Amino acid sequence: MTVADEIIGIFARRGAEAYFGECVSVTGHGLQAAWFAREEGAPASLVVAALLHDIGHLVDDVPEDLAQWTQDRHHERIGAAWLARRFGPDVSDPVRLHVPAKRYLCATEAGYFSNLSPASVRTLQLQGGPMSGAEAAAFETEPRFREAVRVRRWDDRAKVAGLQVPDLASYRRLIETHTRSP
Ligand code: FE
Repeated sequence: MTVADEIIGIFARRGAEAYFGECVSVTGHGLQAAWFAREEGAPASLVVAALLHDIGHLVDDVPEDLAQWTQDRHHERIGAAWLARRFGPDVSDPVRLHVPAKRYLCATEAGYFSNLSPASVRTLQLQGGPMSGAEAAAFETEPRFREAVRVRRWDDRAKVAGLQVPDLASYRRLIETHTRSP
C-alpha cells in the first residue's frame, strides 16, 4: 500500500465527519485548504501540508463534537509526527506549527482575531490564547514559521459551505512525489 492509498483510506473512513462546529466535513476542509494553496501557486510541499494539516484529527480517536472537546488534544503534534514518518519537514513542520500560527497571528495582526470563526475562537482558548510578545518572537525563530502562517490562512478560509473543489484522488500524484523515500 502506498502512502497515497493510506491517506485516501483514512479520509474515506473518517473524513465525512463534521469539522468541529463548521459547515464543512473534515475532507472538504482539507480539500478547500489545498485548493486555496494551489490558487496562490504555493510550492507542492505546502499544497500537501494544507491538504493534510488536520490529519491528526483523523489518526487520533477524538470525539468529533466540539461540545465534548474540553481539552486540547494537540492534533497538530499528532498529525506532524504521523506526517514526519512519511514526508519531509517541508510538509510536517508547517502542520506542526499551524496552531501556534493562529496564536501568533492573534498577537501580531490587527483584525485577525475578529475574523476567526466562532469554533476557532473557542479552540483558541484551549490552545493557550494569543501569544505573548516573547512567544511570538520565539515563533519567528522557527525555520518554517512563514509557511505555517500561509497554511493557517488557507485553514481559516477553508470553511465555505458548498464550495466545489478538486477531489482527493486528484492529489494522488502530488502525494506520491513528496513521500519520503524509504
Ligand atoms: Fe483546519
